[in-house]
Amino acid sequence: MTTVLPEHSTGETAQRETFDSLNPATDEVVGTYPIHIAEDVEAAVSRAHEAAVWWDSLGFDGRADRLRRWKGIVTRRMSQLADVVRTETGKPTGDAQLEIVLAIEHMEWAAKHAKKILGRKRRAAGLLLSNNAATVEYQPLGVIGAIGPWNYPVYTPLGSVTYALAAGNAVVFKPSEYTPGVGKWLVDTFAEAVPEHPVLQLITGLGETGAALTRSDVNKIAFTGSATTGKKVMAAAAEKLIPVVIEAGGKDPILVDSDADIEAAADATVWGAFSNAGQTCTGIERAYVHEQVYDEFVAKVIDKASGVRSGTDSKAQYGPATMPSQIDIIRGHVQDALDRGGKAVYGGLDSIGDRCVQPIVLVDVPENSKAVKEETFGPTVTIAKVADMEEALAKANDSRYGLGSAVFSRKQGMDLARRLKTGATAINAPLSYAGIASLPFGGHAESGFGRIHGPEGLREFSRPKAIARQRFTAPIKLTSFQRTKSTDKLVSKLIAVLHGRKR
Ligand code: NDP
Repeated sequence: MTTVLPEHSTGETAQRETFDSLNPATDEVVGTYPIHIAEDVEAAVSRAHEAAVWWDSLGFDGRADRLRRWKGIVTRRMSQLADVVRTETGKPTGDAQLEIVLAIEHMEWAAKHAKKILGRKRRAAGLLLSNNAATVEYQPLGVIGAIGPWNYPVYTPLGSVTYALAAGNAVVFKPSEYTPGVGKWLVDTFAEAVPEHPVLQLITGLGETGAALTRSDVNKIAFTGSATTGKKVMAAAAEKLIPVVIEAGGKDPILVDSDADIEAAADATVWGAFSNAGQTCTGIERAYVHEQVYDEFVAKVIDKASGVRSGTDSKAQYGPATMPSQIDIIRGHVQDALDRGGKAVYGGLDSIGDRCVQPIVLVDVPENSKAVKEETFGPTVTIAKVADMEEALAKANDSRYGLGSAVFSRKQGMDLARRLKTGATAINAPLSYAGIASLPFGGHAESGFGRIHGPEGLREFSRPKAIARQRFTAPIKLTSFQRTKSTDKLVSKLIAVLHGRKR
């Protein structure tokens, strides 16, 4: 199939191959989009470089004003956007609205704080160079290539895009091939708020279009997706020494201590594991529970899971798997867990349908099985009994991922949270850090590196510019061939007085 490229995509008119976006609940075609080739991507990036100059020239206040205009449009048309999200991902409207609400909070936070965090600030010049005024400011990088996943097609890419824009960059955005309609809606509404220049552009296509973006003339890649693709993105970016921020997958644990509120911990586990059909990068996939409360916890999780259902109707708490190929991965993990001696205490292999997967709760699953080690990205959770919280910590940290985590404990929450090797931890609530715009978000190890959100997210899309301005000529000249031996002696004495004293 061929199509004419739409306005606000690459801005040019050309015949291109297309792909269809499907409703995962019905397989109905809900949109057809061009497969942009490298030439289109390069043209978009080239236009973005020009737009970036204009966008930067607006300054923090001018950009904040326009970002707030965009925020206003997104807020007023939230139900329309939620409908596009629901249609392309299959998630319930309430969940679609929740991710949009969180994204709006981030839009406001980035617009409001960019000036304070990135604007010019004085630094102490130090005694030796006290005749200087030292300042640092964070300048935009230029053009950011943003590559997004499908599971939270608003909240996740906007976590990079909004912060990159607030920092003064233009953005070329490649949404997942499963959610191009959401990407187009976001870019089109941005163009309504900022009609002057293509500051945020859309490119659509399959993996190869994303790969073309990583090879293009962008100044940084903001990638959100699987660790496997993240490695390819990083390898491509390395060819041009382009920096990358990688927001990849996770295998998030929850720790439940003997003094925890078990009712709340079970509720958090069920929501963290099953909401959005388990397709959350920071979804809870493993629970480590103190032996004193293990039986009570498992019983409560089973009870709560029985009230949760996947379906394509409006009453279902979560929808179908967005990506059909994920069903086989979920089945493989459950099968592997059972083969190795694990037990399904709620649901099981029969819970896995063609599109929808009902909640599955597994216990006694060996730590080296796929369901414990690999990202399942489905509505399953493993629960393991531990003798104490040291064992829980050791097992939780024995992972190649390190994205998010949760702790339920009355006394030890902060201590356990600090010792969990993940980018963020929620204490006595599931995933709360993700909704707090001032907190940085990101992982380590195979969950990626770099940060979006908060001050760190703004700095991620800027380069620090250091300026030292000499205010008057110093009596002692250090950086000149006119420096004398007596100057060297004086400096040596001065430094000895300043730093050489025995303690
Ligand atoms: P993928 O890694 O499959 O794809 C992510 C994006 O990369 C898509 O837009 C994809 O395009 C594109 N892509 C594919 N191949 C290449 C390539 N060679 N070069 C550049 N881009 C490419 O991830 P999913 O979309 O399946 O998303 C799910 C994953 O995302 C999970 O692992 C989840 O944990 C993670 N995730 C992480 C988050 C975080 O903040 N840490 C947040 C949300 C999700 P196309 O779709 O067209 O193939």
